[in-house]
Amino acid sequence: MSPSRPVIAIAGLGIESSTFSPARTEAPAFHPRRGQDVLTRYPFLAPGQPLREAADWRGALVGKALPGGTVTAAAYAELTGELLTRLAEMGPVDGLWYDIHGATTVEGLDDAEAELLYRIREITGPDAIISTSMDLHGNVSRDLVHRTDLITCYRMAPHEDEMETKERAARNLVDHLTSGAPRPLKAWIPVPVLLAGEQTSTRIEPAKSVYAAVAEVEAADGVTDAAIWVGYAWADEPRNRAAVVVTGSSADAVTSGAERLARAFWKARHDFEFVAPTGTLEECLDAALASERRPYFISDTGDNPTAGGAGDVTWGLQQVLARPEFEDPTGPTVIYASLPGPAAVDTAVAAGVGATVTVTAGAEVDDRHAGPLTLTGVVQAIRQGDQHAVTEVVLRVGSVYVVLTRLRKPYHHEHDFTDLELEPRKADVVLVKIGYLEPELFAMAADWKMALTPGGVDQDLPRLGHHRIRRPMFPFDRDMPDPDLVARVIPPSDRELTGPDE
Ligand SMILES: [Zn+2]
Repeated sequence: MSPSRPVIAIAGLGIESSTFSPARTEAPAFHPRRGQDVLTRYPFLAPGQPLREAADWRGALVGKALPGGTVTAAAYAELTGELLTRLAEMGPVDGLWYDIHGATTVEGLDDAEAELLYRIREITGPDAIISTSMDLHGNVSRDLVHRTDLITCYRMAPHEDEMETKERAARNLVDHLTSGAPRPLKAWIPVPVLLAGEQTSTRIEPAKSVYAAVAEVEAADGVTDAAIWVGYAWADEPRNRAAVVVTGSSADAVTSGAERLARAFWKARHDFEFVAPTGTLEECLDAALASERRPYFISDTGDNPTAGGAGDVTWGLQQVLARPEFEDPTGPTVIYASLPGPAAVDTAVAAGVGATVTVTAGAEVDDRHAGPLTLTGVVQAIRQGDQHAVTEVVLRVGSVYVVLTRLRKPYHHEHDFTDLELEPRKADVVLVKIGYLEPELFAMAADWKMALTPGGVDQDLPRLGHHRIRRPMFPFDRDMPDPDLVARVIPPSDRELTGPDE
């Protein structure tokens, strides 16, 4: 019998963690929310919202961390232990919404999200219906898709549809539980392609058209949801690759839909280009200085903290400060965001705005490309209380406004700059540790290039040295033969919890 108001647990951990970064991620980075506090993460589960009223939602534990380095075994044990204890104490549930990212790497463990779901299933039992929501940069192994009933991911990169996707995963679960329908069928197709997110933005072709077909597949009779995962390029596990999953009630519809999406993704593989012109940092700076377009944005991509970079690589800033054009305060105005350096921040705060200080910052975590950077400049601004950076300082060195932070922070919004009395719209060049520009910066940029700089999320994938991913894999094996893109239909009766990830 289907429950009219089902009991649904919410649980999950999310991080995009690079195995090519020397950084490690500890439990507090996940800012875990517990119990009913979990619901406050989601506007569509606010009191009075239809979806909130449609089920008895019970938060176990949900933690989300900024992208970073591999999660320590101790942090994973602590967080998952508490998550499972809370779930066990909750009593029987009809369903569980598994809110994850899909690119969590953990010391000594492969396929962390599938492993955790195995342990969740041991508590919920095999009859609970599980709906999983993910980032499209997550990975979908055979084990993960086996252990969930519904599964979906974002359809936009940048992820403007993040909340919409989570809401869809929650709604599909409620709809399924209240419908009395048989367990969903799933068609899963791994696609042997591993690309950087910056080559697969849905703003431009071919990803734009490939992803546009997702809605068409989902609209077919007998299909509940359709999704394409690009996968996560900066981790080296056998599961890292693209994948397609279509769920629904009709074996024919989910199979043909999944095969259509997988073939389209594979066919487009040679056409995925970086979302902006790329070059060395020197080439990008030369182009910016030669251009009339202002502000000119340059992404310092190799250490992008929102992809998993340590954030404290000094290599890019060293190159900028070495340029003679920026030595004099009357030179072209450059903003550089950002470099963590707690001791440097303390010194600047103690000296105060207007003081000239000499500080050393960076390379505490990732010193493989350049060492700590010593710089002398005038303190322009100090800001306390940021949720990521904690303390931010602007130091003017020549004509370069360097943002120093206590902890690493992504700079994605205009207010991230204006809060520091910086005026990115009036700057000549704005350098940000980022990959593709987030929407506000994209709208502000008169021109933009991506500098292929070194770091834990180097965009030049073959030079990183993956050795555990499945081969052949495009673009590592550029001329590989066409793969078998036949859907593996995973029937609802298949409760197998282990088995080879074919
Ligand atoms: Zn993503």
